[in-house]
Amino acid sequence: MGPMIRRIDLRDGAAGADPDYRTLVPRADFDVEAAVHVVRPICDDVRDRGVEAIREYTARFDGVEQTEVAVPREALRDALAALDPQVRAGLEESIRRLRLTCEAELESDVVTEVAAGARITQRLVPVDRVGLYVPGGLAPLVSSVVMNVVPAQVAGVSSIALTSTPQKAFGGLPHPTILAACELLGVEEVYAVGGAQAIAMFAYGAGPCRRVDLVTGPGNIYTVSAKRLLKGVVGIDSEAGPTEIAVLADDTAEAGHVAADLVSQAEHDPMAASVLVTDSLRLADEVEAELDKQVAATRHVDRVRTALDGVQSGIVLVDDVEQGLAVINAYAAEHTEIQTAEAASVARRVRNAGAVFVGPWAPVSLGDYCAGSNHVLPTAGCACHSSGLSVRSFVRAVHLVEYTREALAEVAGHVTTLAHAEDLPGHAAAVDVRFDR
Ligand code: NAD
Repeated sequence: MGPMIRRIDLRDGAAGADPDYRTLVPRADFDVEAAVHVVRPICDDVRDRGVEAIREYTARFDGVEQTEVAVPREALRDALAALDPQVRAGLEESIRRLRLTCEAELESDVVTEVAAGARITQRLVPVDRVGLYVPGGLAPLVSSVVMNVVPAQVAGVSSIALTSTPQKAFGGLPHPTILAACELLGVEEVYAVGGAQAIAMFAYGAGPCRRVDLVTGPGNIYTVSAKRLLKGVVGIDSEAGPTEIAVLADDTAEAGHVAADLVSQAEHDPMAASVLVTDSLRLADEVEAELDKQVAATRHVDRVRTALDGVQSGIVLVDDVEQGLAVINAYAAEHTEIQTAEAASVARRVRNAGAVFVGPWAPVSLGDYCAGSNHVLPTAGCACHSSGLSVRSFVRAVHLVEYTREALAEVAGHVTTLAHAEDLPGHAAAVDVRFDR
């Protein structure tokens, strides 16, 4: 068997004189746009036939024959009663830390006096009704319950629905730990629907589920492509798809740590991407040897091996940390780790990333559970224009425009001039009429 992870050598001018690193970094060949074609018929079908269509897709993709899509209240209560106390303690700490961040980040209204008697207020208004997606196809991501629900609650969203993939092993309900976390957080409206059909259920409404205004949460390539497809029908947060880690490391990094972090994200999905960017050949060789050792010992060995083997993963060799930063910024990873000397100052120069993990004591898996940061983050390069999930995702900014008669009179001339410049005399007349002009 050849090396598990491919190498891309960009040293010594191999990237060209004016390199476009976006085309040189590793990327998956089956992308979100390709998957949109797969999910379009599913979403259309749910729009047209509602719950009946959902049941058919649930049988096909999740192997579950379902009568009800809504999870009964007793199932939520029973799941919390049966929850392992240590898992409960872990969830409570995760909730506590994230809530602290969310409360601190919740912005208040901004009032600006632009002239005497002319006031603009930016009011922050929570979204009325949200649909939260929690993946459960490959692993029961109970942590995604926390990451979705806590910011929505802190933002003041009044109607919260949550859905997760039905599990054959649990009578077609989502995993009991996911149900327990819902109960712990007081979320009562829970569905057992996964993938594109879940996003369509939220966007159009189906059966007992009323349509929502905003869908958030991570998922696999089908879930995220349904979000892209239905954006506009419903609001979405970022495209938080198959996970990615990019580690920028130099000779000071610990190969065993770097390899473990690459494996930890590869464990999420055969389509996950693990990328190391380094100027140290020694580190590259040692990480490769560590990967061989660690992958052999890991539980989800096939999934991890497929992810590391895939075209979306690789070790990128660069001349120095400077070039490494250019690669990292072009790649715009969901998670970026900085394992270099002077990690804090290098980290401040990362512009495109969902989240940046600084130095040896902040591994990505800390962020997956208990850092106090959010783990729902943009993937596939979307970090150059989108942010991860936060309280801000659940509020809208609405301008209140308040002018007195005198304040309008003061600026009226400019308004009518600009209206005529656009050949829209009706706009000018709407001001003039107020002053009998
Ligand atoms: P999931 O729950 O989103 O997907 C399960 C669903 O996928 C199934 O119910 C089915 O409807 C659908 N599906 C499967 N095969 C299909 C096919 N061939 N055609 C159409 N639909 C199909 O997700 P999962 O599989 O459990 O994976 C979790 C994903 O979430 C991983 O990719 C992980 O990396 C990602 N994730 C991302 C973030 C982030 O913030 N970016 C965070 C956590 C997890």
